[in-house]
Parts: sequence; structure tokens; C-alpha cells
Amino acid sequence: MKLVLAISGTMVMAACGLSWAVGLPPLPYAENALEPVISAKTMGFHYGKHHKTYVDALSKLIAVSELESLPLEEIINVTAKAKDKEGVAIFNNAAQTWNHTFFWASMKPKGGGKPDGVLLEKINQSFGSYDQFRQAFLDAAAGQFGSGWVWLVVDPGGLKVIKTSNADTPVAHGQKALITCDVWEHAYYLDYQNRRKDFVAAFLDSLVNWEFASAQLGK
Ligand code: MN
Repeated sequence: MKLVLAISGTMVMAACGLSWAVGLPPLPYAENALEPVISAKTMGFHYGKHHKTYVDALSKLIAVSELESLPLEEIINVTAKAKDKEGVAIFNNAAQTWNHTFFWASMKPKGGGKPDGVLLEKINQSFGSYDQFRQAFLDAAAGQFGSGWVWLVVDPGGLKVIKTSNADTPVAHGQKALITCDVWEHAYYLDYQNRRKDFVAAFLDSLVNWEFASAQLGK
């Protein structure tokens, strides 16, 4: 495969500090554990169908290739600028595999609200206050046209809220993510229909796993 030859010898630890194997990790909680914010039905489809489909497609695409033994982050970086059909398909499925695993880790039952410690200090420095961060996150979610993701990432200047379209991921841009919220319709339509902002507000107020975000800060 051409795309592999182009990068051989450039293996570096991804900027996100993570190194995940290709696969479908178990959910970190039961499918009904995030109710009533996210129903077991949504989780069943989202994890069991959508996420699994990306993982299965990726495994098939990279089988018996030089990419097969690479961590997910490397596969994303290798294919991030691909223009050929196969390279783009590998990128999309690898990025969606990574984004979903990161999304499940970004939540926990009885999470949400204000973080504390160093993370809160950094949020205050970067956004002025937690409430201003919250508003920036909600605005980014509402402003993402079509499918995508909203992220809190570490930027050279401090923390930043960004949005990415479709499968795109901070991993491909050398940014370290702290949390993400999936704003594809499949993430919320069964529970919230067209009310994306209500879903994202509930994600922030009741589900965000700030311990996970703090752990990413240190990586
Ligand atoms: Mn999704």
C-alpha cells in the first residue's frame, strides 16, 4: 500500500498521549447506566451497532496490511491526508473507532457539573469561568453544521473548545483531547429528536467524567 510506504520510519507517540489497539473495548459502564440522560436503547444502537460497525469495517480494511499491527492513533495519522478512496475509508473508520472509545470514557453515571483542581484552574484561565466554558461548548455544538464532534482540547495557548466534522478528530491535528461529545444525530435522536443543545447541556451537567479529563491532562 502506497500510504504505508510514505510514512515508514516516522513512528512517534501521538500527541494525544494515548496508544490504543484496534478493537471494540467494553463499555466502561452498563448500557442503562447513563439513564435518564442517554437511554439504554440509544446506547445499545450507538455502541453495539454504530461503534461496532466502524471497528469491523476498519479491521477488514487493514487486514493483512502493514497497518494491521499499528496503534489506532498511528493509523489515524498515517491516513489523515489520504486522498485515495481506500485511505479515506481507513481514516474515517479509524477516527470514528477512536472518537467513540474516547466519548464513552468522557462520560460516567452521576458525572457532570464543575470540575475541580488543576483542570478547573485551567478552564478559568482559558475561558474566564466554568460558565463561559459551558456556553462555548454549547455554542460549538449548536454551530456544528451536520455530523461531528465537540471537544475540549489542550492548545499551546491553553484549553480550547473545538468542533470537528464527520469523522475528523484532534488526533489528526496533533491536539490532545480532554473530553468529547458526539453530535451526530445517532447520538441523541432517539432521546432528544432535534434538540441537540438539550442533549449537550445534559451531557455537560450530568455525564462528563472530569476525572478522565484530568488524567488526560497529565499524559
Ligand atoms: Mn456516534
